[in-house]
Formats: sequence, C-alpha cells, structure tokens
Amino acid sequence: MNKILSNYHEILKQIRFCERNLDGKYCETKLIAVSKQFPKETIQILINQGHKIFGENKVQEAQSKWIDLKRENPENKIELHLIGPLQSNKANLALDIFDVIQTVDREKIALKLNKYLEERANTKKNFFIQVNIGDEKQKSGIEENLAQQFFKWCSNDLKLNIMGLMCIPPFGEPPEPFFIRLRKLCDQLNLKHASMGMSNDFESAIEHGATFIRVGTRIFGKRS
Ligand SMILES: *Cc1c(COP(=O)(O)O)cnc(C)c1O
Repeated sequence: MNKILSNYHEILKQIRFCERNLDGKYCETKLIAVSKQFPKETIQILINQGHKIFGENKVQEAQSKWIDLKRENPENKIELHLIGPLQSNKANLALDIFDVIQTVDREKIALKLNKYLEERANTKKNFFIQVNIGDEKQKSGIEENLAQQFFKWCSNDLKLNIMGLMCIPPFGEPPEPFFIRLRKLCDQLNLKHASMGMSNDFESAIEHGATFIRVGTRIFGKRS
C-alpha cells in the first residue's frame, strides 16, 4: 500500500526534474496513472491522494471498475483516458465511461464517436489521434503520413475535439527518434499535447516534449 504512494510521489518528483531544462516550452507534463489489471481498492489509494487522471486499456474492464469509482468519488473530478484499441461496437460504451479517448485512428471509429456526440449535444469529450509512429504492421494507429489529413477531417468535418497525438514506439528500440517525430508532428498541426512515454522511458519522453505520460508498472508494480 505505502509502496504505491511512495512510487507515486517519486514519479511526480521525477516529472518535475525532467522538465527542468525545457524552460516551459511545453505545458506541464501530466501523469496518467495506468491502472489496468489493478482492482478498485488499489486505485482508490491514489484517488485518496487527490490524483485525478487515470488510464485503462480495455473498455469492459474499465466499465467494471470506473462506473463505481466515479460514483463513489464525485468530488474528485476524475479524468479517465482510454489508451487501448477501440472497436467500433464498443465506441458508445467507451464514451459512457471515458472522458478522453486517446486511440482514435480510423474513419469508422471517428464517425461512431462523432455520431454519439451529435446525439448528446451537451456531452464534452476529448480525443487524441493515435499515430503508428514505428509503422508496425501489428500496431494500431494511423500512418504517420496520413495523420495530418485525418486530423483535419476529425476536427473540421467532424467536430471531435482533438487535443493531441498519442504513440507507442516499437518495442526494443530506442524510443527517442519516435518521441521526436511525434512531437514534431504535434507542432506542425498546432496541437498542444503529445501522449508518449511509459514506465521505462517517460523521462526521455518528457525531455522530448511529452505533455501526458502513461505510467502503470512504476506506480502500481508488476502486472500478472
Ligand atoms: C499498459 C500501458 C501503459 C503503461 O505501461 P507501463 O509499462 O506499465 O508503465 C502505457 N500505455 C499503454 C498504451 C498501455 O497499454
């Protein structure tokens, strides 16, 4: 229990340290605590510390934990991010549960999300476009060279509020070139936010302009 809290505070310190040389070039990096595979009771420890931003990668798992957690913590203004792939038949459910969807990566999903929002005029949701920055066959995300066109379509033709871009660099390669490319693409599109960096590489992601990092293991410990 205490281990989670000390991990958490250590990460917060580390974030501020990594930002020291950026001179405020990007906005402060926010920590998404990735709570996938951890039970409600464990997550509640961080909520009690006042942490607000959490990430889950599966819609159904999130449904089983976060409807209750949000209801039980109404004062905490929790902001839940979907960071895993989204199937179009789960888009509506995802929008019922999540505040931010980081994995918009194809037309079919974008249309589904847009339709939901059109039908519920007062619902405000935010989105990231996931970019397949390593051009990997098995990975989701839009191709890098289609990202600009897709972004314009999502934000102009549809009315999705795209906050930024998200990526997962290829496993087992130095992530820096990919962080640099994603940040550059954000800047070209005038997007403030880059969601990149996980337990193993968030320090470097921050130094390369991440504004959201997604950290699970280094807060909650190893997943089974
Ligand atoms: C699980 C996951 C993370 C967190 O990974 P850790 O290595 O545990 O920090 C970040 N991003 C995505 C997309 C994930 O699925």
